[in-house]
Order: sequence, then C-alpha cells, then structure tokens
Amino acid sequence: MKLLVLPGDGIGPEIVFSAVAVLDAVGRRHGLYFSYTKEEIGLAALEKSGSTLPDGILEKARSMDGTILGPISHLSYPPRDKGGINVSAAFRKGLDLFANIRPARTRDGVLHRGTEMDLVIMRENTEGMYPDRNMFAGTGEFMPTEDVAISMRKVTAQAIERIARVSFDLARVRRRKVTAVHKANAFVLTDGLFLREVRKVAAAYPDVVLEEVLVDAMAALLVRDASRYDVICTTNFYGDTLSDLASELSGSLGLAGSLNAGNHHAAAQAQHGSAPDIAGMDKANPTSMILSTAMLLRWHGERSGDTRYVQSAATIEAVIDRIISEVSTCTGDLGGPLGTRQFTQNVVDALC
Ligand code: ATP
Ligand code: MG
Repeated sequence: MKLLVLPGDGIGPEIVFSAVAVLDAVGRRHGLYFSYTKEEIGLAALEKSGSTLPDGILEKARSMDGTILGPISHLSYPPRDKGGINVSAAFRKGLDLFANIRPARTRDGVLHRGTEMDLVIMRENTEGMYPDRNMFAGTGEFMPTEDVAISMRKVTAQAIERIARVSFDLARVRRRKVTAVHKANAFVLTDGLFLREVRKVAAAYPDVVLEEVLVDAMAALLVRDASRYDVICTTNFYGDTLSDLASELSGSLGLAGSLNAGNHHAAAQAQHGSAPDIAGMDKANPTSMILSTAMLLRWHGERSGDTRYVQSAATIEAVIDRIISEVSTCTGDLGGPLGTRQFTQNVVDALC
C-alpha cells in the first residue's frame, strides 16, 4: 500500500512517527508492505516554500492509496495570500473526501464520562457552514459593515444523498439504526433539504431504522444516554461539534480515530489538533492517530477486497484496547506514566 505521509504541525511529527511504526509492525504480522512518501506541510513547509500546502501535494496524494495527515494548526497560519492555506480543508474539498467518519466507543478499563456507547458520527465534509466550502469560497462569510458579519451555508441534494447512503450502508453492518441530526425547525430550507434527501435514501433501506433528532436535543441526549445511538448522519458543523462531545464522553478526544473518505482516496487524521503546548515533549498520546490509520487500512481492505488490511485494522484496535485498559501502560493524558515513544514501543512489541 502506497501512503503519503504528512507529519504536520505541533505534536504531528511525533504521533505520525508512531502511526508509521505501528503500520510497519502490523504489516510484518499480516504479510503486508507499506511504502511511504513523506512531504512537509504546515508551518515547516511555510518556512521553506512560502506555503503551508506546497504545490503538487494534492496531486501526489491522488497517486497514492491513502494519506496519513498529521494535525495542522491553521489557527496560527498567516492569511491565505501570505501562504496560509488550511490543509485540512484543501484535502477534504480538493480530493472530494466527502465523509468524515468519527467513531466513539467506551472501552473496558478506560474511564468514561457518560453512559456506555459504541457509535459512529458520519459528518458531511465538503459543504455546510464552513466559508471555504460553500459556493462563494472565501467570501461565504463577510462583513457588509464594520459591525455586521454574515455567514452562508451550502447544502446540496447530491452531497446529502451520498453521506446518507454511506451512513445506511454502515448501519446495515452494525445495529441497523441511523439518527439524522438536523435543525429543520429553524433552518427550514437547508436542514429541510437535508431531511428530504435522508428520507429518500432511507426508503431504499427498509431494514434500517431512521430516527430524526434536533441537534440541540442531540447534545443533551448524548450526555443522557449515548448507548441508544448507532450511526449518526449529519451536516458538517453539527458533526464537527457532536463528534468532539461524543469522543470526550467516551473517554478522551485523544482516543478517537477519524477518517476522511471519498470514492477514490482517504486520509487518516486524528480528531484532536496539533497541541502546540506539548509539542516535541514526548507527551502526546498517539492513539487517535494510530486508530485513524487503522481506519484507513480497513477502508483500503474493503475497497480492494484484500482482507489482510481489514485484519490488520482489527489487530491494531484490539492491541490498543488492551494496552489502554491498564493505566500503567497509558500516556500522561490518561493518567499513565508513559511518554509517546515508550507507549508506541509497547504497541509495536505487542504486534510482533
Ligand atoms: P490546534 O490549533 O491545532 O487545534 P489547540 O491549541 O486547539 O491546537 P488541541 O490540539 O486542540 O490544541 O488540544 C487541546 C488540548 O488537548 C491541549 O492542552 C493539548 O495539549 C491536549 N491534547 C490534544 N491532543 C492530545 C494528544 N494527542 N495527547 C495529549 N494531549 C493532547
Ligand atoms: Mg483545537
């Protein structure tokens, strides 16, 4: 499997190194070979080439089987005309990675804040409230006067149809329930269109239950009893917010894998950010990045029909579950004594 590896900002180089070490170990176990092309993005690239996303990176990604995308700190980027391109948005939009798949599940031995849960948030990734992803790219948010700011949101039938379809497909191999999260009482047209399209797709899946919940109620219901949910299908911004809530309730944002998937490419990307406060200190928990990479393997295995990739993903997940169930083998964020490197070595040893 040919992978583009982009270490990114902050703790990115440390956790991406961990993910690559884990891939090599699982590859030896299941007879798979991974080849890596490493490129700089983010602040490191800005210094050298004047852009956080140097020319040719997206083209390179297209020629690979997948990308390991390190965290990027676009909040500390300069404006776009000074080279500060939001790499994450460029990948999602440029490679049409329309589904952001974000699982959240509780685990034995790992302290969680809410009820037990095993759910997946399926977040539409290419449009919505994000100004760089609507039809007025770059101007989707503007200030007609100094004291007034206006934002626009794009929802299309085509984008909702495909996110709904992957949600129902996933629910079919899980617990056969899709919860569509919306706010159609207030956003009558945009969320109204979302619901119309989800219902249309639901009609083709009579074996899957469709439930509709308002986004504000959903936040409360996740806290009250997240065990009721299986696949949550929603638009970009709601999914962004609810997935942080769900993964933190399930234990920690640092444990949550995330995959940006399209029809032709996918990028593994941790749910958390670049954590500049602990960068280079051997403190980062690489679990989110490792589990995101496992999701990339499963995605590749399901598409290519090579079950060794799916088995590799399952092996990584089982080893991580076992290791993080003991506080003594966890990193500091989970109350454990280990640094990034030792934690990674333990995962690698368990895979060999
Ligand atoms: P960014 O602008 O890249 O999002 P941020 O300042 O918002 O950066 P986050 O990465 O979102 O930082 O992290 C928020 C907090 O969680 C920080 O205190 C950070 O140290 C911690 N954190 C995030 N990821 C991890 C991780 N993988 N391991 C340990 N701590 C983490
Ligand atoms: Mg952040």
